[in-house]
Amino acid sequence: MTEVGNRRELRIAIIGAGMAGILSAIKLREAGLSDYVIYEKADRVGGTWRENTYPGVACDVPSHLYSYSFEPNPEWSHQFSPGAEIQAYFENVARKYGIDREIRFGEEIDRCEFRDGRWHLESSKGEQDEFDFVIAATGVLHHPSYPDIEGQADFEGSLFHSARWDPDVPLDGRRIGVIGTGSTGVQITSALVDRVEKLCLFQRTAQWIMPQENPAYTEEEKANFRNHPEQLRELHSQISQLFAAGFANAVVDADSELMRNIEEACTANLEESVKDPILREKLRPNYRAACKRLVISPDFYEAIQKPSACLVAEPIERIEAKGVRTRDGQLHELDVLVLATGFRVDRFMRPMEVIGRNGRRLDEIWADRPTAYLSISVPDLPNFFMLNGPNGPVGNFSLIEVAELQFDYILQLIDLVRSGSAGSVCASAEATAAFDRDRVEAAKKTIWTTGCHSWYLDDRGIPATWPWTFDRFREEMAAPKLEAYDF
Ligand code: NAP
Repeated sequence: MTEVGNRRELRIAIIGAGMAGILSAIKLREAGLSDYVIYEKADRVGGTWRENTYPGVACDVPSHLYSYSFEPNPEWSHQFSPGAEIQAYFENVARKYGIDREIRFGEEIDRCEFRDGRWHLESSKGEQDEFDFVIAATGVLHHPSYPDIEGQADFEGSLFHSARWDPDVPLDGRRIGVIGTGSTGVQITSALVDRVEKLCLFQRTAQWIMPQENPAYTEEEKANFRNHPEQLRELHSQISQLFAAGFANAVVDADSELMRNIEEACTANLEESVKDPILREKLRPNYRAACKRLVISPDFYEAIQKPSACLVAEPIERIEAKGVRTRDGQLHELDVLVLATGFRVDRFMRPMEVIGRNGRRLDEIWADRPTAYLSISVPDLPNFFMLNGPNGPVGNFSLIEVAELQFDYILQLIDLVRSGSAGSVCASAEATAAFDRDRVEAAKKTIWTTGCHSWYLDDRGIPATWPWTFDRFREEMAAPKLEAYDF
């Protein structure tokens, strides 16, 4: 840290060049903090959108909300645009702001240690550097979760996780198996069913499906957006308010009328869309809609009723050379097997080794489970902030909006150090414990605790997500409560 007049010159490390890392760099520079380094382990920006290239990948948050508020995009092709378009959007934004030229690609941070008032980083290339602040923009749904199913190595066809799609494996006219019925498995099923000889979807738990059409924007509409950027900004804000007042409020109050409306829409979708009563009952979940992360699809029920589709609800016994053997003894012969089995959501920036104040290790701090004050700060990790860290609003939200609110808040804390009002800053242990107590209590009212297994739940069955309204999140992010921090 060097002093310039009354101000300190800060050096900042950004880890990750996905949505949140690009955002951080743009906002730091805008705030006059241009001494930063962005580390990215891969060779391209884009995070989750770089890694998820499976057929059918799309975002089920409306595109005009799933965009940076300061970089509206008149060119979105659909109300819910495909993954490749979203990846191109992030690449374009990174290029437009000159961020792409600044990124240290192919450099993973292995170790971060807070020593003598600064963060000492070591990268996979053996490089070492020192910083005043670290921003961990390392993503949430990032580490693939591989199922504990016997025999995966015996499979003679191609087997891969949905987030590690092998583009060289032919699909057309072949026999494809998909394990998992989350948003990913559902999107893959809809995208592939017409291309393949057979698509077997292995369902451990049925999912509620929220119907949602996905109209394309006409050339006229796009031209209108191009000519009237103010309309696009207005649209962003309108969708955001609709989301906050609708879905976001519903999920945190399981007894709300809004929640009942969502359930009714999902039930009607199942009743009206699936003709065969046996298939309909196989597809009927035995828990409330939105207890698991709600799957949104205009065409999944149509896809699963096609002659090339089969829904296998019998539990999987093991994987064999020729396919998947279910507990009823049947062998489902396959050429390709996709593990759409989700992510390890308790990893966050790990396996990076993080060592904070007084030699406290992150693995020790998070020995029980990850927690963070307001999802951004961890006691004993001074000047270390996370975007989309533990206990934030995740699920059917725009994580871009979440990250923007978080970054503006973090910037206010960084400014305290920059102005010399503070030496370093991190949430106090007391504030973090109080936040945790309150969120665990509030979680009892949410739809996520109404009797299902999902990635929202921690090892105790308590939702690890933000259990209050989105408006409350906005209010919290407006300005830090300084009494919650150690300076
Ligand atoms: P997921 O929702 O965690 O679903 C994983 C699926 O794999 C579940 O159906 C699960 O069954 C099944 N599974 C896991 N282990 C299994 C095993 N050993 N045997 C049989 N089945 C097994 O994962 P995801 O679909 O990849 O989605 C993760 C999250 O990513 C989503 O919830 C969403 O937030 C995000 N996402 C968003 C979009 C979008 O459009 N915005 C698209 C894709 C993903 P159980 O239900 O029984 O556990």
